[in-house]
This record gives sequence, C-alpha cells and structure tokens, in this order.
Amino acid sequence: MLFATGATNGRDLPIENRSLKGIHFAMEFLRASMKSFLDTGHEDGNYISAKGKKVIVIGGGDTGTDCIGTSIRHGAENVVNFELLPQPSEERAPDNPWPLWPRIFRIDYGHAEAKFKYGDDPRTYCIMSKGFIGDEEGNVIGIKTINVQWTNTDGKWSMAEIEGSEKIWDADLVLLSMGFLGPEQYLSEAMGVEVDKRSNYKAEYDQFTTSVPGVFAAGDCRRGQSLVVWAIDEGRRAAREIDRFLMGDTMLP
Ligand SMILES: Cc1cc2nc3c(=O)[nH]c(=O)nc-3n(C[C@H](O)[C@H](O)[C@H](O)COP(=O)(O)OP(=O)(O)OC[C@H]3O[C@@H](n4cnc5c(N)ncnc54)[C@H](O)[C@@H]3O)c2cc1C
Repeated sequence: MLFATGATNGRDLPIENRSLKGIHFAMEFLRASMKSFLDTGHEDGNYISAKGKKVIVIGGGDTGTDCIGTSIRHGAENVVNFELLPQPSEERAPDNPWPLWPRIFRIDYGHAEAKFKYGDDPRTYCIMSKGFIGDEEGNVIGIKTINVQWTNTDGKWSMAEIEGSEKIWDADLVLLSMGFLGPEQYLSEAMGVEVDKRSNYKAEYDQFTTSVPGVFAAGDCRRGQSLVVWAIDEGRRAAREIDRFLMGDTMLP
C-alpha cells in the first residue's frame, strides 16, 4: 500500500471568534473553486464565492497568492494580504547566500493582478491578527490587528507588539493560508503509521517504507508541502521500491 495523500492540513489561527462564518482554510476555498470551475465553469455554485466581498488573506506564501488571484477573478470588492514577517529585501541577505533559495521580495501574479485591479499591492507586513469581529448572525465582519516589530539579537529573531498600532479591518471573507501541518492524521492513526516531528508520514527518501511493513509513503505526505517535480520523482522511486518489496528485485529505473 502506498500513501500519496498530499499534505493539505492547514495551520489554524485559534484567536477570538475563530468560529464565525466566513473564515475558511485556503484549501477549502481553492479546491472548491477549481472543482466547480472545471466541472461546470462555476455554474453549479458549489464553491465559496469572493464576489463583491472584502477579502482578507492571512499568510503571505504561494498559497496566499493563489487565494488573492482567485478572489480577484471571482470579483472581490477588495483584497488585503497580512504577513507576520517583515517585507523581504530586494537582494539576498547575508544569512541567505547562494545556493540557498533566495528569500527576496517578489511580485507574483496575484500581487500584480491586485495592483492592476485595485491600484495597490495587497500585501501588508509585520501585522498580527488578534481577533475576529462578528455580526449578530455570526458572520465575520472584521479583524482586529496589531503591528509587530522584529529584532535580531545575536542571530536570534524576536517579535514584539507595537503599542498603539491596533487597527480594525473590514472583512466578510477571511482565508487562512499560514502553511500546512502535514497530512490529515486519520490514515496514520488507523494504520498505526509513525509520523515525524512535522506530522508527515515517517519514511526515508529512496526507501519510502513506513513503520508498518508493506505500507509506503511518497510525495507531500512524506516530505511536507513541496513541489510537483518532487511528487513525480518520489512517485517513480516509490514504485521501484514497491516492486522490489513484492518481487524481491526490480528492473524499474
Ligand atoms: C495552493 C497550492 C498551490 C501550489 N502551487 C504549486 C505550483 O505552482 N508549482 C508546484 O510545483 N507545486 C505547487 N504546489 C505544491 C504541489 O501541489 C504539491 O507539491 C504536489 O501536488 C504534491 O503531490 P502529491 O501527489 O504528493 O499530493 P497531492 O497533489 O496533494 O495529491 C494528494 C491526493 O490524494 C487525495 N487524498 C487525500 N487523502 C485521501 C484518502 N484518504 N483517500 C483517497 N484520496 C485521498 C487528495 O484529495 C489529493 O487528490 C501547490 C500546492 C498548493 C497547496
């Protein structure tokens, strides 16, 4: 058996009024939107629409960018993107040399589309969400935030809230895209498969065997959220290892 379930268990934001209606994980929003679009060109209405809404996307990574782009294409009234970390510099920082992935400021398609449609880049940095605000029917209508300051002391970063910088933002759709915490755990729990520190199925690269004999894991559910090229690579390598497990040898490349 091979686990190839992906790793789309989103990091939550357990702050005041999290249970209000209109607050969704990014994948709930993106997956339903894409499925409805592919099935019926959005005719079936089986998706969370951002049309005419004030959208706040919390989390400034690639998934956040997809939420921005998708919201714009739905026809959102406006889109704001919160990021807790500071804005990256235009050039590599000294602690981020080649050949590491450059952590620099980038303008992705969602940011460019937002600027074109609304006149501004949607990103705001060093901002922490403190609580959601709701109406009498339990719908989200806003977010309370505070700005934060990051300080580096002897290579260690620390964050402090800036007194007096509290702000309330209007929102009627909030999308949480603060990273992923591995695959959903019901499969590993049912099968007794061990997970690693990051909640991914524990299995060595190029062996792909989990703690349960005959159960293999490959792709994002093993390595965490990654890239399609890695999923293809791991799928092929896992097939070879499964062939070896079943046949005692393998001729797969
Ligand atoms: C929003 C977003 C944007 C991305 N953009 C890019 C990009 O531009 N370029 C890039 O290279 N990578 C991108 N990635 C990453 C890329 O999608 C993944 O690395 C890749 O899809 C992982 O492949 P996988 O086969 O391991 O898992 P997935 O592609 O996640 O596939 C897992 C499948 O298993 C299904 N599944 C889960 N549990 C069960 C179960 N119990 N029973 C049956 N089926 C189950 C899921 O529904 C899903 O269809 C993006 C990821 C996200 C979340």
